[in-house]
Amino acid sequence: MNAKKMPGRVVYKTNLAGDTWVLGIELEEKADFIPGQFVSLKVNEEGLRRSYSVASLPNKKNIELVVDVAPMGVGSKYVLGLKVGDLVEVLGFLGKFVVSDDTLLTQKKLLFVGTGAGAAPLKPMIEDLLINKGFRGQIHLVWGMRFEKDLYWLAELDKLQREYDNFHLDIALSHPGEKWPGVQGHVGDVTDKIKIEGKKTSAFLCGNPEMVVEMKKKLIDMGVPEEQIFYERFA
Ligand SMILES: Cc1cc2nc3c(=O)[nH]c(=O)nc-3n(C[C@H](O)[C@H](O)[C@H](O)COP(=O)(O)OP(=O)(O)OC[C@H]3O[C@@H](n4cnc5c(N)ncnc54)[C@H](O)[C@@H]3O)c2cc1C
Repeated sequence: MNAKKMPGRVVYKTNLAGDTWVLGIELEEKADFIPGQFVSLKVNEEGLRRSYSVASLPNKKNIELVVDVAPMGVGSKYVLGLKVGDLVEVLGFLGKFVVSDDTLLTQKKLLFVGTGAGAAPLKPMIEDLLINKGFRGQIHLVWGMRFEKDLYWLAELDKLQREYDNFHLDIALSHPGEKWPGVQGHVGDVTDKIKIEGKKTSAFLCGNPEMVVEMKKKLIDMGVPEEQIFYERFA
């Protein structure tokens, strides 16, 4: 599948929570990608680009991007300035951060770890496994954020957890409020408590580059083979 430049039109843009926005882009054709892949969006007239993971499922004309505008650089400002009806240029679909058929056939447990907007590709990857592929192994998502108010997909992920008994969601907040019932700390504090079955586990890490490095090391120490650890660094 070769990446190509595709014209798109903004069909919705909504603030999900805090600095996180969702951008709906309508393409001319149905989007043919594998959940986990990303697009490169042209963010200024000089042709500067920024990468954004596709946060929705394939085979629809609309794709969704979840964008954290906190960095406030060229890409963030471009996304903030977009209005419904604006034309955009999308280059896609890119990247190898996907769940392979081999992984599906051999693995009993899939661990997904995301920080911040790093949950963007993980949700469609998990939905694809549960809804489209009927994966019956255990799927564990560990999502790290700073504040409870920033949890932009809490309701959606909670619903998925109620619908599929093989999907487990854990959230670690570094700065929770007093009433937060979950884990206070970082994603590593959660994975320390999850039963990792070494060779039978594959891990998918996405988001903050430091988290990816630390988590990869931790999982290798826990017996997960390096070739079963896949990652996308938002750098
Ligand atoms: C494969 C890939 C997929 C990505 N998918 C997403 C996605 O789905 N959603 C999303 O929001 N972002 C995603 N990113 C990150 C995104 O491409 C940009 O790098 C990020 O949004 C910053 O762009 P900017 O132009 O606003 O800031 P820049 O002008 O690039 O940087 C401004 C300042 O912010 C710092 N900075 C850069 N990136 C980040 C960051 N991620 N977090 C905090 N500070 C940062 C820089 O060091 C600099 O000081 C992805 C990155 C990659 C490589």
